[in-house]
Amino acid sequence: MKIGWVGLGNMGNVMAANILKAGYELQVFNRSRGKEDELVSAGAVSAAGLEELARDCDIVFTMLADDNAVKSVYEDGLLSGIGQGKLLIDMSTVAPATSVYLAGLCQSHAVSFLDAPVSGSVQPATEGTLIIMVGGESEDYQQALPLFEVLGKLSLHLGGHGAGSSAKVAINYLLAVQTQALAETVLFAQRNGIDKERMLQIVNEGACGNKMSQLKTPSIIKGEFPAAFALKYIVKDLKLAKQAGLDAPLANPVLDTFSAAMQSGLGNEDLMAVVKYLDNKK
Ligand code: NAP
Repeated sequence: MKIGWVGLGNMGNVMAANILKAGYELQVFNRSRGKEDELVSAGAVSAAGLEELARDCDIVFTMLADDNAVKSVYEDGLLSGIGQGKLLIDMSTVAPATSVYLAGLCQSHAVSFLDAPVSGSVQPATEGTLIIMVGGESEDYQQALPLFEVLGKLSLHLGGHGAGSSAKVAINYLLAVQTQALAETVLFAQRNGIDKERMLQIVNEGACGNKMSQLKTPSIIKGEFPAAFALKYIVKDLKLAKQAGLDAPLANPVLDTFSAAMQSGLGNEDLMAVVKYLDNKK
């Protein structure tokens, strides 16, 4: 079975590397050339374009920035001239409505589709311990399962097309709330004379600590936020959650905070850089 991978950003690159390590034949494509070099050195084939990749591969994954990127890749390349019976799997975080739209587009080309966005950042993606939330037909999920087992520690088939994306926008709402709450807590303690390293130790050792707080602790201590999950993407995801019907008391304040942090120039830093924005805002 030949696997295709489109989108070799922070997540796509390491996820594709795991597919290759698991022994699958892999073709890769990224809009900007050069990002495929390491994978090609490790044995992947660099596809000349989207059409060629879709023609050659049985299952094609996309891991792209946002709804527009995914739509343009499907509409302007991936589906042009694709053979019947293939399976396309979109792992990007997009609106549930976009996943339903893509499924319809695939159906009109006699191609199967799964929305399979992931929870977990670059480290779990590298370790193959993502959580994969899947929407689509059961038989397509069963076909993809061996690959999901390579990419993640858990995959869940949640329902029809769009169900994976619905779960994903929900979990990222929690991520946004927790990230802002952690930033506010550390700053509040600091302003009352408590060292941030000590405060983070208290958080992480106690009931309020979690994997996210542990993962972000080193960057808060250093004050450096190279993007594992770019802040601009949590703004995108909170907007997707609102479009999908999120109407909760914390939704607007959290979106306002991350939007303002993005406007202050932090969009390409990690979402935890919100602590810098809140600190400067005082
Ligand atoms: P990233 O590093 O910014 O990579 C984005 C990818 O999308 C790149 O390959 C980029 O190509 C491509 N792209 C953007 N616009 C495009 C367009 N119009 N046409 C074709 N390709 C386009 O993003 P990432 O962190 O890997 O995230 C990818 C997706 O996973 C996003 O939907 C994100 O919300 C989601 N996600 C991310 C994380 C995380 O921790 N990073 C965790 C869970 C889910 P170029 O290289 O040419 O720009």
